[in-house]
Amino acid sequence: MKAVGAAFSIENAAHFMRKFILGMIYMPDIKKYDVAIIGGGIGGLMAAYRLKQNSPDIKIVITERGNSLEKRHCPAGRENGCVHCKTCSITSGYAGAGAFSDGKFNLGTAYGGTLGEELGDAKANKYIDEVDKILVKYCTSGVPQVYKSNDELKLKCIQNNLRLLDMNVKHLGTDKNYVTMQNLIRAISEQGVDLLAFYDCQSVEKHDSGYILNYTNGEKIYAEKIIIATGRGGANFVADFCRSFGVKMHSNHIDIGVRVEMKDIIWKEFSDKIYEPKILYKTKTFEDRCRMFCFNKGGLVSAENNHGIITANGHSYAEDEKRTENCNFAILSSIRFTEPFNQPTEYAESISRLANMIGNGNVIVQRFGDLVRGRRTNEHRLGQNTVEPTLKATAGDISLVLPHRILTNIIETIYALDKVAPGTANDDTLLYGCESKYYSIRPEFMNDKFELVDGVYIIGDGSGICRGLSQSGAMGIYVADCILN
Ligand SMILES: Cc1cc2nc3c(=O)[nH]c(=O)nc-3n(C[C@H](O)[C@H](O)[C@H](O)COP(=O)(O)OP(=O)(O)OC[C@H]3O[C@@H](n4cnc5c(N)ncnc54)[C@H](O)[C@@H]3O)c2cc1C
Repeated sequence: MKAVGAAFSIENAAHFMRKFILGMIYMPDIKKYDVAIIGGGIGGLMAAYRLKQNSPDIKIVITERGNSLEKRHCPAGRENGCVHCKTCSITSGYAGAGAFSDGKFNLGTAYGGTLGEELGDAKANKYIDEVDKILVKYCTSGVPQVYKSNDELKLKCIQNNLRLLDMNVKHLGTDKNYVTMQNLIRAISEQGVDLLAFYDCQSVEKHDSGYILNYTNGEKIYAEKIIIATGRGGANFVADFCRSFGVKMHSNHIDIGVRVEMKDIIWKEFSDKIYEPKILYKTKTFEDRCRMFCFNKGGLVSAENNHGIITANGHSYAEDEKRTENCNFAILSSIRFTEPFNQPTEYAESISRLANMIGNGNVIVQRFGDLVRGRRTNEHRLGQNTVEPTLKATAGDISLVLPHRILTNIIETIYALDKVAPGTANDDTLLYGCESKYYSIRPEFMNDKFELVDGVYIIGDGSGICRGLSQSGAMGIYVADCILN
């Protein structure tokens, strides 16, 4: 190994050199790295970028369960539903879950995770700003638009018992976001980071002062330090790691609900002014928290394959010609379980699985008018609907899937949103079930470096702290700094 860069101390360099030589003697066949990053989403990419920038000779590998970005293609669409690919191209592969996202970049800490609480707002914002600068550098396909918060809409929401979460948002759109990620990945590769696709990390073992990572393809890698950047899709991996290394896990809440689709014009006032309305509502019957979020103007509803369970999501393109007549967003009901129940992820998964069972292996779609009249949607009624579905889903009945409490919360939220965007509760509004977000595993950190055990760090959505691109990227850069310092 060559001498390391400025920010990588001489002590660290000597330490890595000694371990490398020992490794060559005892594990001649295994590839050896200073840092192995598990997961090639924005968190892992930002961590690798920062490590290489500040320490050019450090040896880094990113191992990713999915494919390279260019080879990620989802066959689902208007004509055919999810075909259950072995590795879901929407959620897995280089650029992570955000690869085909709408690229809404939150310029602050008001939502999208709790990094502000962990690091303090000033520090978290500084790191978010650094992620933004890197993305601007690699966004070569035009300048993204920035939407500012709006007092008039905030007031309108308050007057209707709704809380509009406001923060400045930079909108890249799916296509600009894709190009930006492509450029960033190319830059990381040119810096000398090894990028391995279809490397699904199964387990980690302690070995000497570092770790051996075992992959489902039979390969092994040795690394002095590990960054776990496995996103929401890696929840089981994180849980297994924590169990093997005796790291405590806390139960977080889960969000379950539906993806809602309607004519774009209904939310135009909001989307023109703030681009993405994120709205909270406390339901009347149960006083539960429901949230409207992940709004996609002119967007498409998409299907996600989470280990064989198909759920709904959505995205949109920045270019006008790729836009649809529809908009879509999620309405999710938050549940925090109490003792003795401690399997919130399994609970959410079993609801989504039930939807797949009734939907013949697919997501269910139902007209709102049919739902409130207590009847299923069939192909005939769907065919006559004024809102044309942008995802091929099975016409059915969501009330046979969602528990009463969650369904009541969703229906009440739709009526509440109708007061600020009339038309939301139209009969022809489409509900796709289910959509769910699990933040249920939150490991206990050893310290403020998000270290789980000596030399193993966790970042991004998989840490239970982040829920968005900006905070996941920021956490990646922060942990890279912790490793180098
Ligand atoms: C459709 C969609 C739209 C979204 N839109 C937005 C948006 O507009 N704005 C926003 O801020 N956020 C958005 N999000 C959320 C955002 O994408 C995530 O918060 C962000 O990607 C998290 O980054 P991450 O690096 O922590 O994890 P991820 O991006 O999930 O990346 C983790 C990677 O790790 C890999 N992995 C998992 N387990 C293993 C393993 N055992 N071995 C090897 N690899 C593994 C996965 O394949 C994945 O590629 C969206 C998400 C989706 C799905």
